[in-house]
Amino acid sequence: MTVTARGALPSTPYDVTVVGAGVVGCAIARELARHPRLRVALVEAQDDVGQGTSKANTAILHTGFDATPGSLEARLVREGSRRLAAFAAESGIPVEPVGALLVAWDEEQRAALPRLAEKAERNGYRAAQLLDAAQLYAREPHLGAGALGALHVPGESIICPWTTTLAYATQAVLHGVDLHLNSAVQQVNRPEGAHLLTTDRGTLRTRCLINAAGLHADTLDRDLGHHDFTVTPRRGQLLVFDKFARSLVRHILLPVPTALGKGVLVTPTVYGNVLLGPTAEDLDDKRATASTADGVALLREKGRRILPALLDEEVTAVYAGLRAATEHDDYRITAHPSQAYVTVGGIRSTGLTASLAIAAHVTELLADTGLALGPERELEPVRMPNLGEAFPRPYQLAELIDADPEYGTLVCHCERVSRGEIRDALAAVIPPNSLDGLRRRTRARSGRCQGFHCGAAVRALFEEGQR
Ligand SMILES: Cc1cc2nc3c(=O)[nH]c(=O)nc-3n(C[C@H](O)[C@H](O)[C@H](O)COP(=O)(O)OP(=O)(O)OC[C@H]3O[C@@H](n4cnc5c(N)ncnc54)[C@H](O)[C@@H]3O)c2cc1C
Repeated sequence: MTVTARGALPSTPYDVTVVGAGVVGCAIARELARHPRLRVALVEAQDDVGQGTSKANTAILHTGFDATPGSLEARLVREGSRRLAAFAAESGIPVEPVGALLVAWDEEQRAALPRLAEKAERNGYRAAQLLDAAQLYAREPHLGAGALGALHVPGESIICPWTTTLAYATQAVLHGVDLHLNSAVQQVNRPEGAHLLTTDRGTLRTRCLINAAGLHADTLDRDLGHHDFTVTPRRGQLLVFDKFARSLVRHILLPVPTALGKGVLVTPTVYGNVLLGPTAEDLDDKRATASTADGVALLREKGRRILPALLDEEVTAVYAGLRAATEHDDYRITAHPSQAYVTVGGIRSTGLTASLAIAAHVTELLADTGLALGPERELEPVRMPNLGEAFPRPYQLAELIDADPEYGTLVCHCERVSRGEIRDALAAVIPPNSLDGLRRRTRARSGRCQGFHCGAAVRALFEEGQR
């Protein structure tokens, strides 16, 4: 079991190296772990898995009802949704099948709903149903005035994106994948039929290369001589409302989509909050994850129409994620057999949902590049700590607390995170290297006080765990 964050990288060559430990790269590494004869590395620039776009999205497990029929994305979202729902059930990732309502606010949008229902059918999704205004308000009594009807998509769910990425990576590492953090790949050369990756931590040699570098996939692709796409970071800002807002909304409330994306939505989260967002702003800077006054104002204006009472609730946090948009309308997943190289680019707004299907697709492409995958095995299941509000948390489990009182000692009172959960996270297969990483594993410091009360205690436990 190998997870490294410092020191020189191993000198023994790998069969396959995946660059980028976002949800997509981790899913690919996990898929490759099915093949025990392969020596696989997962190489990440930052100090944790899931630190890029994968930590900052709207956390919806899509059905793919609104994808472009016939596209690669449509197929992989549909298939990925099924695969991830099954994986989540097996590994304890919280999922709530709350369903979505695509709300029409004017006649033009109402006229578009039957077309969207037909599109859903063409995407193989047959459960969508048209609702009139009365049916809509019966389902969502706090919806703003003036909605004319909706398309109900019962299969849309909410999921924990942090646990998903971590579960993939944990299962991959437990099955022999080497995870190397703090290892930004700066350059790739290909002498004598192998790739030589120059990283922050020295060089790494690999026979096959998979580029899952998210926002930076175009840069790496160019290093290998390809000019197939350019990533334009498309920022999505979001507001997180306090748990008191949760009773205001039952479904994911979607607007009728536009060319720029799915538009501003209101959705519950599995942590018991409510999200309002995201914006869609095309930028030049791949690090521009700041929230802006204009973005917040726009979201508040849109939110007021959708769910007016939401705006009276407290905002707990704001965040922004960058979609890896390109000039193309579909994912850019391409095998380059002569280079033993696969590009996984342009995974824009559906990558969390599609991740497991992307991984299966990429593994097939890798085999097409001439790599003998060798025998395949079933992976031993992993069981992840539950961060979801709809499922029992340790502080609620009397028997667990009887057996280990640390689960009954709360450290973060807003999110009810116990000492036992923090201790477990610090001792996990992939431990956090920062307080933010600990937050994504436990929810500690992510509640309404944002760590004002528990910050010092959480930090002390984290620092103790680092020793
Ligand atoms: C606002 C927003 C809302 C979204 N909502 C949803 C949703 O509801 N449902 C859904 O399914 N999807 C959603 N998405 C999309 C989803 O989040 C992404 O498609 C997915 O996270 C992409 O994962 P990734 O692994 O490709 O990229 P990333 O998570 O960005 O991972 C790429 C990794 O590569 C690393 N890296 C880059 N360059 C190098 C290098 N040179 N060397 C080493 N490592 C490198 C980065 O550090 C990063 O960790 C949303 C996205 C946004 C921004």
